[in-house]
Amino acid sequence: MFFERLSEFDPEVAASCDRELKRQQGNIELIASENIVSEAVLLAAGGILTNKYAEGYPAHRYYGGCVYVDEVEEIARERACRLFGAEHANVQPHCGANANLAAFMALLTPGDTVLSMKLSAGGHLSHGTPMNISGKCFNIVNYGVDDVTGLINYDEVRQLAHECKPKMILAGASAYPRIIDFAEFRKIADEVGAFLMVDMAHIAGLVAAGEHPSPIPYADIVTTTTHKTLRGPRGGLILCREEYAKQVDKAIFPGTQGGPLEHIIAAKAVAFGEALRPEFKTYQHGIVLNAKALAKGLLDRKINLVSGGTDNHLMLLDLRGTGTTGRDLEVRLDSVHITANKNSIPNDPEKPTVTSGIRVGTPAVTTRGMNEADMDKIAAFIADSVYDFDAKKESINAGVAELCAKYPIYNH
Ligand code: PLP
Repeated sequence: MFFERLSEFDPEVAASCDRELKRQQGNIELIASENIVSEAVLLAAGGILTNKYAEGYPAHRYYGGCVYVDEVEEIARERACRLFGAEHANVQPHCGANANLAAFMALLTPGDTVLSMKLSAGGHLSHGTPMNISGKCFNIVNYGVDDVTGLINYDEVRQLAHECKPKMILAGASAYPRIIDFAEFRKIADEVGAFLMVDMAHIAGLVAAGEHPSPIPYADIVTTTTHKTLRGPRGGLILCREEYAKQVDKAIFPGTQGGPLEHIIAAKAVAFGEALRPEFKTYQHGIVLNAKALAKGLLDRKINLVSGGTDNHLMLLDLRGTGTTGRDLEVRLDSVHITANKNSIPNDPEKPTVTSGIRVGTPAVTTRGMNEADMDKIAAFIADSVYDFDAKKESINAGVAELCAKYPIYNH
């Protein structure tokens, strides 16, 4: 449906896009950071606002002709604030990593100390890893998770904070299956006089719908992506109190970005509008129910999970002792049209390119309409891929095809 017209102009690109559409339609998407946007979001993202330069902010632009993109950006800002109960929103970050860089630049001076979660424990590259600009420009100290429980150990965070006296503590993760206690992080930050930044990229949709406690009352600055549980276009967002609004805006433009992507901001506005509707709460609750059902189905079939389960939209399979690595299972699942990603588990004996874990999440399958009974089927597909792949490959493939046909996407 999308590419017929494009193919009149550029058949080569259109053909690749069409193959990707078929891949999305025919695969079960379990990557915890992915989702399937509405047609309204797609239309806005693909619209004519891409033609417009709009450096600056509404009513304060460096280009003429911004009157209508100002309207769109104001709608996005107002909806984001209403959705999360925030005082100020910057909707311009091109992605989550850019939002994080700008948050660092807004509150810190290069060289300052930041206490953040270790990558291998579930943190994100942009939280201070040595290969990212955050790690190159700031002094990073890391907390991890408890070896046995897989949970954040708030005593460890507190002890490290008192030792290293960070200018900022950063909470938030890419692969943490449990509730994060933002109130406790705030207490620790106050004890040592640090800012508290929360990156809620993974859980933003859950937060918007009240399925996960909100960081907004506790954090000085909150960053997120807009394309994960929040189900908007690929992009970033910063929320903060009014007192930091000017610093945040300057840190995005001119600090770290050029002209904003107003077509993507239009798509963010559409997605925030969708998230403000009652159906979004039902959807987010469905994500959590499905995650619990998937976790139960896996545990029942002798697949261990880090921390023993999940409170949110994702879980981490601990494959140690199964004879399969994260890399092997990712390849096997791909071959039966189930998409997931290998992921290190706490204290992983394998290197990051191999890993002993697989991360799976339920945002995209829930968007398709799949339910808890379907999650049990998917758990069986995964367990069979771990323990009995050669014998079951054909039947898994057939089962996946049946589920995808039952819950179509973009099929008209
Ligand atoms: N923050 C967290 C917690 C993430 O998980 C991710 C991406 O996976 C990002 C930030 C970066 O987002 P982006 O890929 O849009 O830069």
